[in-house]
Amino acid sequence: MSKQFDVVVIGSGPAGYVAAIRCAQLGFNTACVEKWQSASNKPIYGGTCLNVGCIPSKALLDSSHKFYEMQRHFADHGIRAEQGSIDVAAMMERKNKVVGQLTLGVAGLFKSNKVTGISGTGTLLGRGRVRVTGPEGSQEELSASSVILASGSEPSAIPPTPVDNRLIVDSTGALEFDAVPERLGVIGAGVIGLELGSVWSRLGSQVTILEALDDFLPALDRQMAREALKILTRQGLEIKLGAKVTGSSTGEGKKKSVTVNYEDGDESGEAVFDKLIVAVGRRPVSGDLADSAAGLAIDKRGFVEVDEYCATNLPDVYAVGDLVRGPMLAHKGMEEGVMVAERLAGKKTQVNYDLVPSVIYTHPEIAWAGRNEDEMKQAGIECRTGSFSFAASGRALAANDTDGSVKLVVEKATDRIAGCQIIGASAADLLQQIVIAMEFSASAEDIALTMFSHPALSEVVHESALAVHGHAIHKANRKR
Ligand code: FAD
Ligand code: AMP
Repeated sequence: MSKQFDVVVIGSGPAGYVAAIRCAQLGFNTACVEKWQSASNKPIYGGTCLNVGCIPSKALLDSSHKFYEMQRHFADHGIRAEQGSIDVAAMMERKNKVVGQLTLGVAGLFKSNKVTGISGTGTLLGRGRVRVTGPEGSQEELSASSVILASGSEPSAIPPTPVDNRLIVDSTGALEFDAVPERLGVIGAGVIGLELGSVWSRLGSQVTILEALDDFLPALDRQMAREALKILTRQGLEIKLGAKVTGSSTGEGKKKSVTVNYEDGDESGEAVFDKLIVAVGRRPVSGDLADSAAGLAIDKRGFVEVDEYCATNLPDVYAVGDLVRGPMLAHKGMEEGVMVAERLAGKKTQVNYDLVPSVIYTHPEIAWAGRNEDEMKQAGIECRTGSFSFAASGRALAANDTDGSVKLVVEKATDRIAGCQIIGASAADLLQQIVIAMEFSASAEDIALTMFSHPALSEVVHESALAVHGHAIHKANRKR
């Protein structure tokens, strides 16, 4: 006899656990199958995000930022503490504690919402049928009215630099170093490469990032990308653009090292590192997710094919999160999980895929949403922009945190906000104000007419909206 549920979710990352909790809130008898296990065969919830992604990386970014501030900036405040040292083991222990607290938190939420957690690997057998292979090879079958697939993603690999988890690591390994490498190489100047490169650079590594593309951060407009590159380079990251990694070899001498070969236009280069992080993107985990007889449609890159409501080609089978098209971001998967649960309950919930905020948690943070100026021009839509620098903010100056700026893009014809990019302290939180405004189709004037607390960093957002029409108070406006 198979166990019967209304909904079975496979995977408990942010897409899966949020879907499961929302389904349970809506009255569905819900199970969530998770293959990640503790030594005692208990499921560990939270997926990539909580265990080896968003949360541990932010824990290390926050710790390393404090160390960097102590060494570089405390003296500016009259605090003499330059002699401090770093205890990597203690830093890792704190990070692990944060992770443990949050993954246990999901277990607690499952309990309070009456989601049944099941330890094992889930396989979709067909409509409404899931097989769970348990820790010791035991098998049981679950049946459900609906199945939600949320098996997430894993780091991509490239043949020139096979991960050996000693000298060459992926993002997971880079969260576990037991000492600060003297020379650290990073392949890929994307979100993960920049964040992890920053962590170890702040702790003292000499970091070189090799990026195949000629353009830095292609999602930003070129002006903002140049500003970000300048700030990160000044902090000590060496970012080589147009450097495609083609090979590597590891030396087994007294001091183990890895030599990386790359092509830079017509020239070839070589660099030697003590550790190498491969951060070239992520790929969906869909290989063994479904029995071939189930007939689940999966595209060439491994993404489960879905429509705008995350319905797969099979009736009553949905897929959410990194497993499906769109940006690989935790919050995008969470919103999809909520959407699927609510649509199962007969609601008309949708995800606004035009408004997915992105953040790189370097310091300053780099955050953006909507369209940038270059994209508006390419689309032939006339736009205005308003910019404002953190250097002109009283709050930023008081905090000695003045790098970066805000750039707001609005449609000229309607004054409606089309997008926003922010480089600066707390950019993620500042951007969210604009994302909310955009959800309500706000204009630059709406923001300009809103009262902002003084002194707060959010005043830079206010001033950028004022600047759209040449009314910024705390800077000289461009003539219009
Ligand atoms: P995942 O989190 O990958 O979870 C999938 C789960 O399914 C896993 O627990 C896995 O064990 C389980 N599973 C897989 N197959 C099966 C199966 N057959 N049976 C049972 N269980 C299965 N995103 C952000 O938005 N902000 C950030 O700051 C951010 N930082 C990141 C930093 C790093 C270093 C990394 C690597 C990623 C980061 N991300 C960030 C991306 C984010 O982690 C992912 O977008 C998010 O975790 C995807 O959620 P998901 O639920 O789709 O999949
Ligand atoms: P993201 O997809 O944002 O995680 O970024 C991954 C980055 O890695 C992209 O900018 C790719 O251009 C870059 N990349 C992929 N393969 C290579 C390679 N062989 N050498 C250097 N950079 C690479």
